[in-house]
Amino acid sequence: MAESTVRIGLVLPDVLGTYGDSGNAVVLRQRLRWRGVAADVVEVHYGDAVPDCLDVYLLGGGEDEAQALAAGYLREHPGLQRAAARGAVVFGVCAGLQVLGTSFVAGDGRRHDGLGLLDAVTEPGRRRAVGETVVETGAGPLTGFENHLGVTTVGPGSSPLGRVRAGTGNGDGTDGAVTGHVLATYLHGPALARNPALADLLIGWVIGAAPPDLPLPEVEDLRRERLRAARAGARR
Ligand code: GLN
Repeated sequence: MAESTVRIGLVLPDVLGTYGDSGNAVVLRQRLRWRGVAADVVEVHYGDAVPDCLDVYLLGGGEDEAQALAAGYLREHPGLQRAAARGAVVFGVCAGLQVLGTSFVAGDGRRHDGLGLLDAVTEPGRRRAVGETVVETGAGPLTGFENHLGVTTVGPGSSPLGRVRAGTGNGDGTDGAVTGHVLATYLHGPALARNPALADLLIGWVIGAAPPDLPLPEVEDLRRERLRAARAGARR
């Protein structure tokens, strides 16, 4: 439970910032503030110390080379792993998912060690998965945009986040991986802007209680429209 200001770590946005996933930090901060909880975003850039005292850590997507750089840096500066070990919330998207896993093979054909916070191994797939995606989860249906070559196998130490109804996700009918308070998905969007229930799941973990409802009709309308479009696209 965060005591006063919730500190949201945006991890290496200069390296894992290609796909707009930094928006996830803005969404978390705003949904906390709307509920009267003070929240700040702490950007941790390449070359900075990686603090182990933050409440949430967010990792976005990036190219293979960038994610190999990020994984190496975070392994050398293990503040995030220390924080995860004491129960801090970690959310990863795409390359973020792959980096949080045990290992991934990058475009250079080399296998790189991940942070090992998720039991997930990533290999190059046969073709790039690009497009709108729908994933059924315990937090309801999630929508997002995927753009990746990697296919991910989740081992017994993690559970998949959900089942893919449209798109590719991990490549075996599931998407993402979860272990404790470490959760990752292939969904860009940013995922938390498109899926408020997922944002609130993370917020609930941070504040240690289910957050009060936050009715936002415009967001709900947009969400219904996105789900309709993604499902219609999947049927074509
Ligand atoms: N480089 C990774 C892949 O192509 C992740 C891409 C991404 O983050 N969108 O699989």
